Amino acid sequence: MAARPPETGLMISRATPMRHLVRLLLIAGVALAAGAARADLLADIKARGAVNIGVKDSVPPFGFIEEGSRRIVGYDIDFATAIAKGLGVQLRTVPVTTATRIPELQQGKVDLVIATMTHSAQREEQIDFSLTYFVTGQRILVKKASGITDAAQLAGKKVSSVRGSTSEQNIRKTVPSVQVLAFSDYPAAFLALAQGKVQAMTTDETILLALQLKASNPADYVLLDGYVSQEPYGIGIRKGETALRDAVNRVLLDLEKSGDARKIHDAWFGPKSQLPLKRNFRIEPGK
Ligand code: GLU
Repeated sequence: MAARPPETGLMISRATPMRHLVRLLLIAGVALAAGAARADLLADIKARGAVNIGVKDSVPPFGFIEEGSRRIVGYDIDFATAIAKGLGVQLRTVPVTTATRIPELQQGKVDLVIATMTHSAQREEQIDFSLTYFVTGQRILVKKASGITDAAQLAGKKVSSVRGSTSEQNIRKTVPSVQVLAFSDYPAAFLALAQGKVQAMTTDETILLALQLKASNPADYVLLDGYVSQEPYGIGIRKGETALRDAVNRVLLDLEKSGDARKIHDAWFGPKSQLPLKRNFRIEPGK
């Protein structure tokens, strides 16, 4: 060490950090550019002039094909329409299922998901969510004739639900010995109950009520008292798309402020609707 000329040591220690710094700056620059490109879906949507929104098409009254007009309509569709309008672009709806909606969002097949999707901590690891725009809870539907009045009576019995749903997971926690038959959509899960292949069906109360209403014999079915869980719905957004998430949240807050969000609720769940439900929530910042 002592033999080395002091200048050399000085030169090395100066040059090395400099080269490192340049390289680091280059890497940071590339990362920033890549990040910006990925996090600019809002700009892409605006340039494209259309937003692709994943929606359900067999879940009344959220997203379903209206008899006669054959148009896709529902609570979620009204929100999708309002979001597209708020972003100043056209709406393109893309049918998704409970199991496909998150992968399709991650792969960029859709820009947003408005599809009866609960904002859960587990899903937050995969995607981002908007503010809550609907609140419901999970319940259990049985045939009256079954005599089942309590979830505990489902021990060892078969219950239908949908693959990839919170409903499927929650019921396993509530009744650990239950056998869950997971279908790809809710009409199929309901058919299993109607045909006696399962003793109960479980998912969000609103979905169950709408299916019961559409059945040929609604009076044959009954909802068990009590909730399995609370299910706040959020709009799914790819992780890191903060500009898009902020823009969506701005539209949601505007809809609440103008009263349009309540109007959408009233259209599907108001006193004159087929499914009257109290609106016991508001779209609020931070929720
Ligand atoms: N809200 C529940 C969920 O996100 C059930 C409804 C659905 O499958 O979309 O899993």
